[in-house]
Amino acid sequence: MSYFVGVDVGASKSASALIDEGGSVLGTHWREHQGAWKGKLADTVLASTRGLMAEAHVPPESVQAYGIAVCGLVSNDGATLVQSRMLGEGYLDLAGQLRPRLGRPVLVVNDANATLYGHVKHAGVRPDDSVGSRVTLLLTLGTGVGGAFMVDDTIVVGDHGLASELGHVIVDFADERRCVCGNRGCVENFSCGRGISEMAELRPPPPDSRAMLAELGATPPYASPQIVTAAERGDPWAADLLRVAGTMLGRAISVLSVVLDPDTVIIGGSFGHATSSWLLPAAVEEMKNRWSFAPARRLPQLVMDSIGPYAAATGAAMLAAARFQREMTRD
Ligand SMILES: [Zn+2]
Repeated sequence: MSYFVGVDVGASKSASALIDEGGSVLGTHWREHQGAWKGKLADTVLASTRGLMAEAHVPPESVQAYGIAVCGLVSNDGATLVQSRMLGEGYLDLAGQLRPRLGRPVLVVNDANATLYGHVKHAGVRPDDSVGSRVTLLLTLGTGVGGAFMVDDTIVVGDHGLASELGHVIVDFADERRCVCGNRGCVENFSCGRGISEMAELRPPPPDSRAMLAELGATPPYASPQIVTAAERGDPWAADLLRVAGTMLGRAISVLSVVLDPDTVIIGGSFGHATSSWLLPAAVEEMKNRWSFAPARRLPQLVMDSIGPYAAATGAAMLAAARFQREMTRD
C-alpha cells in the first residue's frame, strides 16, 4: 500500500493528514505552535509528520511523497515559498530542505489552493450536470481573505502564482483605506476579521451598542469576535456591520463571476463560519442586485466549507499524490 502525507503549516498550528493512494484519509494530527515555528519551518513540518506517523502506526518508508501547504506565495514549480507575511519567510527552498530529511519527493503548495483541491476531490461539491469547463471558487474569510479557483481539475495559479489573490478584488471605489496589498477598496477591507474591526472604527457604535459591548468587556478598537458576539446577542449595529461584510462579499463574487462563471462558490475560514448567518443572505441579495446576464446566467451555489480544519492538509497530500504518481508512472 502507498501512502501520501499532507502538512498544512499556518501562523499558529500545523495540521497533517495521511491518505492512501485512493485518497481516503487514514489519520490526522494537530499541533499548536504559537509562533515558535518562526525560522524553523522545516523542523515544524518534520515534527508534524513524526506525530502523524506515530499516531497512525504507519512506517515512514511506506510514504511515497509529501505535500506541504503554506499560507503564502509559492513558486509555480512547487518548490519555493516565495513570500509569506504570516510565516515570516521569503525565498525559502522548502522542498529542497525537506527532501533529504524526508527521503521522498516534496511538493509545496499555497494553502487556499490545497483547501480547494481537497474539497473538490474529497467532498465532490460540484454538480455532475455541468457542460463545458466547470469552475469552482473558494473564498476563505479569516484574519484576511484568501481564495483559489479551479477549472475542471486544474488549480489556476497564473504566471506568478498570484492568480488567486481574490481578497484584493476591488468592491468599493469610495473606500480610501489602504489595504495590506497597497491598493484601496479591496474586499479584504470589509469581509474578514481585520476588515470588520476597521469598519467598527469608521462606524462607531451608538450608545446602546457601546453599553452592550462594555458589558462583554469590550472596549475600542473592537476585535472581530467581540462584534460577532454582540450580533449574536441581537445588537443591530453589529448585525449591520456583518451585513455590510456580506454585501461586499456578494459584490466580489459578482465581479469574479463575470470572468470565471463558477458553478459553485465555497466559503470557508474562521470569520466566514462565525458570521455565515449574516454574511450569506446579504451576499446572495447583493449578487441578485448586481448580476450580469440574468436570468440566463444563474447564480452559483454558495456553500460553506464542510471538510473542516484538515482540508488544506488533505488537499496537499492529494496534490502530492497526483503529481508524483504521474511522475512515477512516466518513469
Ligand atoms: Zn488589497
